[in-house]
Amino acid sequence: MQIIKVQFLKGEIPNGKAYTYFSEETVSTGDLVQINSSAKGIVTEVDVPESEIEAFRDKVKTIVGKIVAESKEEPSEHFNVSNSMVAQERYCEEKSYPHFAPKSGICWKCNQQIYAEGKNRMGNLSKGISVEEAGSELITACPHCNWSYCE
Ligand SMILES: [Zn+2]
Repeated sequence: MQIIKVQFLKGEIPNGKAYTYFSEETVSTGDLVQINSSAKGIVTEVDVPESEIEAFRDKVKTIVGKIVAESKEEPSEHFNVSNSMVAQERYCEEKSYPHFAPKSGICWKCNQQIYAEGKNRMGNLSKGISVEEAGSELITACPHCNWSYCE
């Protein structure tokens, strides 16, 4: 059980002093929590020492739980051929690496776009190189047919 301090939210804005609560799930500072059936709050402090609540421990309530923000989860990888080309070129320049990947992004072995979805040699889907990878890794081989560009 975690001892936390929570400030009530008035609308979207934290309002008033922070109150001490128990939380069954682990929360972190800044988390939105459901305090009771009607009130929401924001965590202002976590791991409050037991000694601080000793005098009124039996009065301390437990929050309902963390409010999980509607998951508008961004995919961690993006695919965009021209962005990836630029990203790889920039990466090679920055690191002074030779640019092995085909400039057009088209693999000269399998004729597929390396920065987009394709098929591997087994005929299965292969996902290609994302913008993130192109901007952080030296491309030395085709992601689809595994043909090496640096030999
Ligand atoms: Zn290829």
